[in-house]
Amino acid sequence: MAAPARTAPQRRAYLVGGGIASLAAAAFLVRDGGLRGADIEIFEETATVGGSLDGSGSADVGYVVRGGRMFTYEAYSCTLAMLDSIPSLADAAVSLRDEMLAFNTEVRSDSHARLVAGGRRLDASDLQLTSRDQLDLAKVMATSDAGLGTRRIEELFRPGFFETNFWCMWATTFAFQRWHSAVELKRYMHRFVQELPRLHTLGGVRRTRFNQYDSLVRPLQRWLERQPS
Ligand SMILES: Cc1cc2nc3c(=O)[nH]c(=O)nc-3n(C[C@H](O)[C@H](O)[C@H](O)COP(=O)(O)OP(=O)(O)OC[C@H]3O[C@@H](n4cnc5c(N)ncnc54)[C@H](O)[C@@H]3O)c2cc1C
Repeated sequence: MAAPARTAPQRRAYLVGGGIASLAAAAFLVRDGGLRGADIEIFEETATVGGSLDGSGSADVGYVVRGGRMFTYEAYSCTLAMLDSIPSLADAAVSLRDEMLAFNTEVRSDSHARLVAGGRRLDASDLQLTSRDQLDLAKVMATSDAGLGTRRIEELFRPGFFETNFWCMWATTFAFQRWHSAVELKRYMHRFVQELPRLHTLGGVRRTRFNQYDSLVRPLQRWLERQPS
């Protein structure tokens, strides 16, 4: 008797939450995993997808946007690779990645007043890190998560570290408090250490042309909805 023909196992994906994590996962499942649009279900408890990348409003009444994500080319390679497959809403021949690259060539981040005190601009190019601070930062970066354990950032640096230009810029760029976890600081240092020479100009920061709901979520949602079932 002939063996039954082999058929690919039917695969389905169920993603909880309609934030960028699920939308990106769905895009990768379609693009790289070969799933059909109909094989993917995203459960979102609110009326809109996008999660934290929300945004609403109009030119007439104004906009409400919770936040604007800062991208860097170095740290967001997976995101950019995914966006390279998604057509822009403005021009279907252009990918969201290329749309973003073009926008950031046109509009460059170049802060001339990254730190201001008493109404005067400070020279923020000097990070003010002592040799001891640099050593302490290197130690944090080289210590395992288990080695850092539950320690807070403030437990690992001298008090003066928190008065430096470095800390003021790092904390306000990445929303750190000195009582946050040292493990979190370590992960961000690994991810964004290449920003140190341009931390005072924000020169590495890339942005989308519009708010991220309109620039990323809407085109991604449309692309997913148009996948064959
Ligand atoms: C003000 C602000 C600024 C930020 N700045 C940056 C930045 O500069 N750079 C950067 O990289 N990141 C930044 N972030 C973080 C980034 O926005 C988030 O990490 C990212 O959006 C999280 O995406 P997510 O899909 O994991 O979760 P979320 O965006 O939180 O989405 C989760 C979704 O799941 C839904 N949900 C939850 N539970 C259920 C359930 N049980 N059933 C159904 N649906 C459910 C929620 O309604 C929501 O829509 C910022 C965030 C904020 C708020």
